[in-house]
Amino acid sequence: MPVEEPGGKKSVPGGLWTKCEKCNEIIYNKELGKNFKVCPKCGYYFRLTPKQRIRLLLDRGSFRENYANLKPSDPLGFVAVQSYKNKVKQDQKKTGLSEAVISGEGRIGKHKVAIAILDFDFMGGSMASVVGERVTRLIEKAIKKRIPVVIVSSSGGARMQEGVLSLMQMAKTSAALGLLDRERIPFISILTNPTTGGVSASFAMLGDVIIAEPRALIGFAGPRVIEQTIKQKLPEGFQTSEFLLKHGLIDMIIERKNLKSTVVRILNLFSS
Ligand SMILES: [Zn+2]
Repeated sequence: MPVEEPGGKKSVPGGLWTKCEKCNEIIYNKELGKNFKVCPKCGYYFRLTPKQRIRLLLDRGSFRENYANLKPSDPLGFVAVQSYKNKVKQDQKKTGLSEAVISGEGRIGKHKVAIAILDFDFMGGSMASVVGERVTRLIEKAIKKRIPVVIVSSSGGARMQEGVLSLMQMAKTSAALGLLDRERIPFISILTNPTTGGVSASFAMLGDVIIAEPRALIGFAGPRVIEQTIKQKLPEGFQTSEFLLKHGLIDMIIERKNLKSTVVRILNLFSS
């Protein structure tokens, strides 16, 4: 059972309970899992790992990873507080992934799809050379096989440790999606909290259908930076899924529990 610590902080014994980051409620992990990792008390959306996202979206056992052999390198020999090489190693260990995106093929409601999922826990889901390359190759493969592309985004933007090489991925992935569009193959983009920076400014916002999870932060620059730049107060709810839907930037907001059935419906529609 959770116990009160001196000072009133609740400590949570590992593995059994999770404390909601928003309402501080202690939730039984099994209950949280059954509820698709959405807080049953306040509706807060916990982040899903790519593995959990695969379980949520894809038909069971259908996922096959590709381009896992593309591994991050350190083209600039970047060292800040910590060396880039070490940071990559650390996040590889933390997430069990080799890069901030996992790509592959699988089936959603029997439809074959090419799918990529970004992981915010790996260096903020930042777009690096290998992230852009995996996404681009996935799109090219989808063109060859004539199957739809699904990308689930969560990203803080470009990866500064790779400098301009990371920025180039915006153009590269967008160009690949241009080719996909020319072949009239659908791309469904799913935006989760948060989707910002170079990812939002490239492939994430180029979906034929753009779906967002509720209350996700979606935008290019952060609200503080914008306020300081334009010296104006931003409207209530700025850069949330709900705000973007109201202003026509996304197509729909779908609760996590309905995400798969919605994607299946869209794929049915496209294939007919
Ligand atoms: Zn909560």
